[in-house]
Amino acid sequence: MKHPDQWALFGGTPSFAQPLHVGQLNLPQWDQIEVTFRGIFERQWYTNHGPLAREFDIAFARHLGVKHAITVNNGTVALMVAARALGFDQGEVIVPSFTFPATVQALSWAGLTPIFCDVSPETHTLTAEQVRPLITPSTVAIAGVHLWGQPCDPEALAALAEEFGLALLFDAAHAVGCTHHGRPLGQFGDMATFSFHATKIVNAAEGGCIATNDDELAARAKTIRSFHPGEQYAPVDTRINGKMSEAQAGLALLSLAELESNIAANRQRHMTYQQRLGELPGLRLLTPATHDTSNYQYVTVVIDGERAGLCRDQLARLLDAENIICRRYFEPGTHRLPPYRDDPALRVLSLPVTERLCRDVLVFPNGTPMTEDDVSKICDVVEALLAQAPALRAKLEQVA
Ligand SMILES: *Cc1c(COP(=O)(O)O)cnc(C)c1O
Repeated sequence: MKHPDQWALFGGTPSFAQPLHVGQLNLPQWDQIEVTFRGIFERQWYTNHGPLAREFDIAFARHLGVKHAITVNNGTVALMVAARALGFDQGEVIVPSFTFPATVQALSWAGLTPIFCDVSPETHTLTAEQVRPLITPSTVAIAGVHLWGQPCDPEALAALAEEFGLALLFDAAHAVGCTHHGRPLGQFGDMATFSFHATKIVNAAEGGCIATNDDELAARAKTIRSFHPGEQYAPVDTRINGKMSEAQAGLALLSLAELESNIAANRQRHMTYQQRLGELPGLRLLTPATHDTSNYQYVTVVIDGERAGLCRDQLARLLDAENIICRRYFEPGTHRLPPYRDDPALRVLSLPVTERLCRDVLVFPNGTPMTEDDVSKICDVVEALLAQAPALRAKLEQVA
């Protein structure tokens, strides 16, 4: 066991020679990519609703068990197009602050006003009980986030949306391959949006998708996605270039084919993290409910600094020096970022759970290139650091 002076932050050698990041890339084999890309170059059809983009639309719709999957060039554009497709020029949307800022910014782009709602300390997502008191005559929609692939109270929010005649949108960027009572999360809400960013479990380098069972919303979203004259399915006022390229669609198809095996490997690593870190005092690792399945991409740990002996920021700093690059998602919370933090109406906003999670959540590295040994070694380091917490706290104060 290292002496407190021997940790990398205080001049020692890092536990890992190379940095291990949270978003480990799930990449198909190069020879498969080569075959796919040769096909694109042979056809000389690089974008504008090419055969691979159309194939991926169908493959992803089938994967989710929805009528329509409308692929776009990233998850943020998916949210923007979905928000426009709802057809409101103004109005309030109830949304969590505890999310990637894109969720909220996309609503602003679409001309809607975000109303921040606190989240459940158990699931880190909105609940119907928290949303209900925020509904006003100006509310037009609820935008939930299936954060970390955890279902965002889908049935209760659907009932609430129906009771008040609101649209229900889910940001499912984290939720490819996740199910709730056996149903893929893309089936819930009027629309669900996905991201195929390089760091997500299905990696198209960049990419996104809107899933819906509603023919009218699908027609509007498909029309908004493209300026192509042949892609006009519904009357809409604004359009955007959100088309997925053939290169992206080719990668997305290869990545989707590997989804099950990537989930299985993520799950193994997640279980190791769970067994090792879940036992440590003051650490709570988020795990799916018994009736849900996850893609296990996010190893999300809530750290009670009092009980653990080190607070989240102290632990993150020590781990960072060891080349274990954890992420402090989402700090600061979206309500503390421009333009929202400057909105006088938001100054009095109280989001106690969000504030606490912004302070205490640490997400650990996971993804295909990592081995079980990497995970064990990370857990060894965390365990050793926490065992030396009092000495390390004193040393941290000196280097502060
Ligand atoms: C990644 C992500 C997005 C945005 O997706 P991009 O493809 O990066 O634009 C939106 N919401 C959440 C929760 C995300 O994690």
